[in-house]
Amino acid sequence: MPPFFLQKAGGPSLVYFMNNLDHLLSEAIDLFNGISDTAELEQAKGRYLGRHGRLTELLKGLGKLPPQDRPAMGVRINRAKETLEEALNSRRDAIQQKELEAQLAEETLDVTLPGRGMGMGGLHPVTRTLERIQALFHSIGFAVASGPEIETDFYNFTALNIPENHPARAMHDTFYIDNGANTHLLRTHTSPVQIHYMQKTQPPLKVIAPGRVYRRDSDLTHTPMFHQVEGLWIAENANFSALKGVLADFVQQFFERDNLPVRFRASFFPFTEPSAEMDIGCVMCRDGCRVCSYTGWLEVLGCGMVHPNVFKHVGIDSEKYIGFAFGMGVERLAMLRYGVNDLRLFFENDLRFLRQFN
Ligand SMILES: [Zn+2]
Repeated sequence: MPPFFLQKAGGPSLVYFMNNLDHLLSEAIDLFNGISDTAELEQAKGRYLGRHGRLTELLKGLGKLPPQDRPAMGVRINRAKETLEEALNSRRDAIQQKELEAQLAEETLDVTLPGRGMGMGGLHPVTRTLERIQALFHSIGFAVASGPEIETDFYNFTALNIPENHPARAMHDTFYIDNGANTHLLRTHTSPVQIHYMQKTQPPLKVIAPGRVYRRDSDLTHTPMFHQVEGLWIAENANFSALKGVLADFVQQFFERDNLPVRFRASFFPFTEPSAEMDIGCVMCRDGCRVCSYTGWLEVLGCGMVHPNVFKHVGIDSEKYIGFAFGMGVERLAMLRYGVNDLRLFFENDLRFLRQFN
């Protein structure tokens, strides 16, 4: 269809062309300025500058003009085209600027809001207790040693004066890994570390061995895996009164009680002679509670003078040296220090429980 201005009777004149061009220009610029959306603006552009746009058609109609008028009109149309392009560009910029402002307003970051924060981790109560025990013994000169958790029968039993068929073996509820001549097992106490240490180190020596141990047992106060700290002091004068002094001082510092009473009861361990259980005055009550079975005393560790047979297995002269050893359950001490009544809570890893210690 020919452009509307060519339908006039008698053919178009230059004036008519120019009027049309002016009209078209102001109409287009008004239209562009009323648009606030980029896609709509591109559509409007097509309507004037596209292949069949109105300005394009006007250019095509130039041929209908008298030849002398064509160059002037051509220049006018090209100028009009540039004007439209400029109007489009500035409108496009304005729309994009507005869109950007809207987006920024929507995505505004409120820097005054409190931060989400990084979750602060903390140490497990058993780890805290272990570190506390280590620090206290370290402060009086004990070295810290570790050893394998899978042990041979020799290190876990025989070298500690627990020969085959000894009833103490049955008491340990051992996890055996294999049987036969070279039996392997999960260590039932950290005492094997003392054997390894004595084989490598000449007395006098002071060492503690903290670590995991395993027994087939599970109830309110037992878990199949738990932690022990064993200590050993070998010297020419490491007598029982030194043992009492070291341990009484340790429990007082551990529980932060200056006058914490202690008592020693005769007991039996194959690797010490004489052997004793050490009790402390109940840290939970004054005159009896469930934790101390209404006795006012809590059993906290076992100890004794190292049996000469143990020295014999590691080649230490028991005529020259004497030594004492002690062993304690880390979870037991943690329960008493923190007032926890179920051992299993330590290993269920419920964050509500664990967070209380940090
Ligand atoms: Zn009590």
